[in-house]
Order: sequence, then C-alpha cells, then structure tokens
Amino acid sequence: MEKIRMTTPLVEMDGDEMTRILWQMIKDELLLPFIDLKTEYYDLGLEHRNATDDQVTFDSAYATKKYGVAVKCATITPNAARMTEYDLKEMWKSPNGTIRAILDGTVFRTPIVVKGIEPCVKNWKKPITLARHAYGDVYKSVELKAGGPGKAELVFTAEDGTETRELIHEFKGAGVLQGMHNTEASITSFAKSCFNYALDTKQDLWFATKDTISKKYDHTFKDIFQEIFDKEYKEKFEQAGITYFYTLIDDAVARVMKAEGGFIWACKNYDGDVMSDMVSSAFGSLAMMTSVLVSPDGNFEYEAAHGTVQRHYYKHLKGEETSTNSVATIFAWTGALRKRGELDGIPELAVFADKLEAATVKTIESGKMTKDLALITSIENPTVLNSEEFIQTVREELEKSL
Ligand code: NAP
Ligand code: MG
Repeated sequence: MEKIRMTTPLVEMDGDEMTRILWQMIKDELLLPFIDLKTEYYDLGLEHRNATDDQVTFDSAYATKKYGVAVKCATITPNAARMTEYDLKEMWKSPNGTIRAILDGTVFRTPIVVKGIEPCVKNWKKPITLARHAYGDVYKSVELKAGGPGKAELVFTAEDGTETRELIHEFKGAGVLQGMHNTEASITSFAKSCFNYALDTKQDLWFATKDTISKKYDHTFKDIFQEIFDKEYKEKFEQAGITYFYTLIDDAVARVMKAEGGFIWACKNYDGDVMSDMVSSAFGSLAMMTSVLVSPDGNFEYEAAHGTVQRHYYKHLKGEETSTNSVATIFAWTGALRKRGELDGIPELAVFADKLEAATVKTIESGKMTKDLALITSIENPTVLNSEEFIQTVREELEKSL
C-alpha cells in the first residue's frame, strides 16, 4: 500500500514519562507504516524545556498559530518534587497554560464512548463535550476577611478618575468578601471558540449561566453569546442543522442528566471545573477522555485529557510490564490528522483517522483492552493486554480495514 502523503506539517509536541513512551509506539506502529508523516517536531519533554528555558513551549505555540493544527503529548507541570528530580533551573509553568494563553483558546473535552464501558448515567448514549471558559471569575478573584463590623463597597475608578460605587454589605460582625472580574474580550473569544467548534463537529451548543440572579455579571455572558450568535453564526448554524440553546445553569444540569448526549456544553469557569469532573467520571475513565484546544481564530491543538501516568512510568523504568491505556493519545493523533486532512483537502487522511479510531474501538469492544478498562468493563472475561500488545492489536485490526 502506498503511504498517504501530507502537504502541510502537523505541529508535534512531544512530552513526558509514560505518555512519551506511548507516543513513540503509536507513531511506529499506527502512523509511520501508513502515512508519509510530516510534522514539525517540538520536544516539550521537561528536560528540553529546562534546557531551552521553556522557549520550546512558546515556539510550539507560535508554530500552531502558523500551521493551524497541533498534536500534544502529556507533559509534566513542575512542582517542588520535580525541581529536584529533574534538577530544574526554574519551576517552569504548565505548558498547557502557556499554549492556551498564546492561542487564547478554549478546551473541549470529549469522552470516547465504546460498548462495554457504559456511562453511569444510563440514558447517555453519545458523548457530552464540555467546554470550560478558563479565564477569570473566582480563579482570578481577590478576597478579604472582614474582621468585624464595617462597610464593604465595590469601587470602579475609570481612567479619568470618575468613581462608581456600590454597597456590598454593612457588616454587623465578622465576615468574608470576594471581588472577581471577567473581560468582554475573553468572553468574546470563548463564545467564538464554542460556536466554531459546534460548527466544526456539527453538534448543538448549550450555554448556561445564572443570569436571573446575576443581572450584570452573568447577564453579560448571556448577552455577548447571543449578540455574536445573531450577528455571525445564526445562518451557519441553520445551514449545518444545529442549534444554539441558552438556559439557566440549574435547568441545564437537570436537562443534561436526562439527555442522551451528542452536544457541546459550554460552561463558565467554575461550572466547567466542577461539571467536567462529574461528566468525565460518569463516562467511565480519564484514560478515555480526549481534549482539544480551539482558538477563536480557528487553530486546533489535540491531546489526551490525562497526565503523564507517572506511576506506570516508574514501573516501566524498573523493567516491569505496564498496561497503560493509549486510546486518548491515539485519538489526539486522529483528531489532528483528520483536521489536517480537512484543511488541506486530503480526504485519505480523514478516512485513515476514521479507520484508526474504528479499529481502536473495535479492539476494546472485542474484549481486548488495558487493565484500567478491564476493571470497569461490562464485557465478560476481558483479555488484559500490556501497553505494547494493545497497540499491536489495534494495528492488526487497522490493517484488516485498509
Ligand atoms: P495522570 O497522569 O492522569 O494519572 C493519574 C492516574 O490515573 C494514574 O496513576 C493511573 O491510575 C490513571 N491513569 C491516567 N491515565 C491513564 C492511562 N492512560 N492509562 C491507565 N491509567 C491511567 O495524573 P497525575 O498522576 O496526577 O499526573 C502525572 C503528571 O502528569 C504530573 O506531572 C502532571 O503535572 C501531569 N499532567 C499533565 C497533563 C497534561 O499535559 N495535559 C494533565 C494532567 C496532569 P493508576 O496509577 O491507579 O493505574
Ligand atoms: Mg476540576
């Protein structure tokens, strides 16, 4: 079989620990034999980030802006323990945070649904994609403890010195206070990323806030979404046969529990933090969760939602067998290849991505899986495969379909 040719490179961001091992296996077994893989390679492994004073992370993000599509391996976010383990010059920031700041993007997390790994919510038949607005609100708030009786006020001083004041509370005794903010620019970017991704994946978009209680703050989110939708997306949504649905956050939660899935749920920062953990745990496994960062101007960075699986890596280093799930990392590659194929007009690339995903799903549905899934599957007597065997079995399945 002739290998599929690519025209534009994918931005490849390599990473750390067990996922770095899986990364190479996926390339060797599932990609390089079939695709004339063209990537611009950035080594985001912690050693190389340290050696380049983290410049490589910035360069990889700029390359994503240039080419439009990236695929990223999980990376270590340094903490105190990593400082000594890797003898770091500095406690480098989270690469995901750096890349997100440069692309100004929103992260969409989607579970990979297979028969045999059933969600706890029995009516969830299709994936629910969760988009979290990752800027502001309580995550960038300032807080105060009011030590005793006193008056708390909200003051905005405009550039010309004009003050606007609002009484928050007259404290009769001790209490607590919080000041938070968001910006129209950030909310606008969030809204555009959500509308773009809904169009891209042809799924309905849901958005919810508490605008009935928060008549200025949350209402601004609602208004910005509605204005952008009416002005820029209404017709495109109609053509694509999808809808934009706004409701109150409590109504949204109630409806999500009764829904069958197959839509995107956009959440404010805190709602997204809480609800993404609920949705992902209800769908079964973090190892089956994919993630894509979408920028408002249409750049895409695909990755697995899980981390570097450190505990498995230490076993691997000791020469012990591992059974690490590579599904989300495989789907990061297929997501990126499909998008590259769409943008460059190479349908073979998108067809290959579909076939690789189908082969992965079929492998699990035929009872062959890694240990994490074997522990939760409803399939009887599953075959537990090690990390290499799983990828090889996917390859056999893939070859049958080519
Ligand atoms: P993690 O790597 O996601 O792993 C936590 C645990 O979840 C694992 O020990 C394992 O459980 C299970 N698990 C996760 N992915 C799995 C997979 N593919 N196959 C099988 N089991 C899987 O989270 P962490 O241990 O908290 O973080 C490790 C490192 O990853 C940290 O340095 C962190 O900074 C980094 N991280 C990076 C990203 C990213 O790049 N996007 C995201 C999160 C964390 P068992 O050990 O019980 O088998
Ligand atoms: Mg959370």
